[in-house]
Amino acid sequence: MAPNSYARDDYNALGDDEFRILVRRFLSENHPPELRSPPKRLHRHEAHPWYMAMSAAGWLAPAWPRQYGGMGLDPSKQLIYVEEFENFGAARVPDHGFMLLGPLLINYGSEEQKNLFLPKIISGEHIWCQGYSEPNAGSDLASLRTEAVLDGDEWVVNGQKTWTTLAGDADWIFCLVRTDKAAKKQEGISFLLIPMNSPGVTVKPIVNLNLEDEFSEVFFDNVRVPKDNIVGLINQGWTMAKRLLGFERIFLGSPRQAANALSKLYGLAVHYGVEKQETFLDRYTGFRLELEDHQCLFSRIADTLRQGRPLGPEVSFLKLHQTGLFQRISEYAVELAGQDAGYLDPIDSNRNLNVAGGFMNSRAATIYGGTTQVQKNILAQSLMGLPAK
Ligand SMILES: Cc1cc2nc3c(=O)[nH]c(=O)nc-3n(C[C@H](O)[C@H](O)[C@H](O)COP(=O)(O)OP(=O)(O)OC[C@H]3O[C@@H](n4cnc5c(N)ncnc54)[C@H](O)[C@@H]3O)c2cc1C
Repeated sequence: MAPNSYARDDYNALGDDEFRILVRRFLSENHPPELRSPPKRLHRHEAHPWYMAMSAAGWLAPAWPRQYGGMGLDPSKQLIYVEEFENFGAARVPDHGFMLLGPLLINYGSEEQKNLFLPKIISGEHIWCQGYSEPNAGSDLASLRTEAVLDGDEWVVNGQKTWTTLAGDADWIFCLVRTDKAAKKQEGISFLLIPMNSPGVTVKPIVNLNLEDEFSEVFFDNVRVPKDNIVGLINQGWTMAKRLLGFERIFLGSPRQAANALSKLYGLAVHYGVEKQETFLDRYTGFRLELEDHQCLFSRIADTLRQGRPLGPEVSFLKLHQTGLFQRISEYAVELAGQDAGYLDPIDSNRNLNVAGGFMNSRAATIYGGTTQVQKNILAQSLMGLPAK
């Protein structure tokens, strides 16, 4: 069937069940079967067919407005989209462009930047990576030291980023750079777009616990970038960085990872024939109830967004709770799998039984996008009124 048979003038006008059925049909007719439930984060070349299938159907960017090539879904439809993708085991494609940078450009980018970059994200021509963290600036991001100095019509960039996911696959990197060393640390930061093929950019892969080179160090040695590659105002990058982290926390706080882990936990119980045993059912039901709670909270927050009201620190709670639940489910899967949990490869080559991979992914989820301790600090200070350290 031609991919454009999934396009609708207004997806939000569909009933929830009707939209859910459309998403399921889209997935079953377009998702490459060999990429379903991948045991690791896929590289660009591996995910390419799936990226292009979503791109061709106009299904890549559910949250973007229609005018920029997105689906224009309201938050409740986005939730259905995410749930169905997770239940199906849809592979995650390199998504920093449409998930993080796109919404930022739509809000803060110049018309030239929107016209140049947004269509190329949608078409798959540009894959982006995120250059925020540095060796001594992770949780304390505002301490970043990579600097950009204006020289005529160009910025000259020197410094280092680290933990940059899929940097070796990316065409472009969006970076936080220091553009005023004399200002207070949050005030001298700008948001800069840098082509990865610029002379002076070096990428050194880091091998993770899964023995995969998912992220890298990125070095900048006198890299020259046009002056207009700044998004927003010079020295105002921190405001945008925070906004972008907000988008990221909503994404990371959606129930998708915990829901997926729970359905795999049940599959694991069936594999070992314990799915009817009381001990299993007790733990499983507890997780299900927690997931239901989380889904309610996520829907409430999605509703706030839909009504155009600002989000508060509860976004941190979403991320904290979702990743914690994902971790507890993954830990129980390890308990259930016993010695089988020691294999890095999926049990019996069944990708839905990738216990060790799930466990390690769940550890990482409490680190990226702001660690658990950082989310707790935010909640302690902003909701409970406790003093900052
Ligand atoms: C899988 C993965 C992918 C990533 N991808 C990217 C990417 O694409 N781009 C990017 O820029 N970054 C990326 N990161 C980096 C990530 O954002 C950082 O790891 C994270 O912000 C934590 O920073 P850090 O590693 O420097 O740890 P640190 O900030 O040094 O923290 C170390 C420990 O100290 C705790 N801690 C720190 N400060 C406080 C405090 N004030 N109060 C209490 N506890 C504290 C932390 O919670 C943590 O447990 C990725 C990380 C992972 C794991």
